[in-house]
Amino acid sequence: IQESNPMKTINDEIFVYVTKKQKEIDELKKLELFRREFLADVSHEFKTPIFAAQGFIHTLLDGAMEDENVRERFLKKAAKNLDSLDVLVKDLLVLSQMETGDIKMNLLPMDMRLLTNNIFSRLENIAQDRGVSLKVKPDDIPEVWVKADADRIEQVMLNLIENAVKYGNEGGKVIVHFNEGKKYVEIAVRDNGPGIPHEHLNRIFERFYRVDKSRSKEIGGTGLGLAIVKHILNAHNTKIAVMSKPDKGTTFSFKLEKAFTQTLIEKTENEAL
Ligand code: ADP
Repeated sequence: IQESNPMKTINDEIFVYVTKKQKEIDELKKLELFRREFLADVSHEFKTPIFAAQGFIHTLLDGAMEDENVRERFLKKAAKNLDSLDVLVKDLLVLSQMETGDIKMNLLPMDMRLLTNNIFSRLENIAQDRGVSLKVKPDDIPEVWVKADADRIEQVMLNLIENAVKYGNEGGKVIVHFNEGKKYVEIAVRDNGPGIPHEHLNRIFERFYRVDKSRSKEIGGTGLGLAIVKHILNAHNTKIAVMSKPDKGTTFSFKLEKAFTQTLIEKTENEAL
């Protein structure tokens, strides 16, 4: 009979315990590093608009106020910077709620076609300014019913379509494609802009990551749009994909579960009867 060695068993247990604790310590260190980097990023992002607004207001108080033209110009610039700060705070709140899982998705049938039309109306002015045309394909598709959280998916579509308008070419096209499968609908937002260089493609979903920092800031981006898109789609158990070709354009796509089993055409035909 082989006798078990009590010392060996104790040593094994200690080894398992130490390894487990070490893993926990490593996790905590990683979290702490993430927290510190996040704070540094956020402080940096806050500083830019605050310093700018401060600069304009102090210059006005130091005497520039006397000149009516300068007064209006500087006040507008200060207001613009404060508006950016407001957008940044709102985006940060959404992102932090998504990251801590505080937001419950309210999955209900919703019509993507109607939602897209609403977003096109909201973006009409900036699209017109850039001479960009907004289209849906197939253009005769009457309704696209999916099961999703309408408010959150509205944010996803707004971020993707607004990016396509802002970063696409002036005078270009933005097309929202609906591709119906058996259980899912694939939704793609396509532009024919300059594209995103390959080496940046898997980093654009990180918070505050921008391909061209100065251009993105000038356009008014917070650098959080795509991070928010990624989190919202994760919470819908789906993923965002991106394809881009230099000078040809960029396509962002994702799938959502269909709300009804009939095909979209069948559904509309049945309703017409
Ligand atoms: P931002 O607020 O800067 O727009 P996003 O997270 O929405 O932040 O996007 C991150 C970066 O990805 C942008 O700064 C831009 O450089 C790039 N990007 C996003 N969409 C497109 C697009 N359709 N075409 C080209 N570049 C894009």
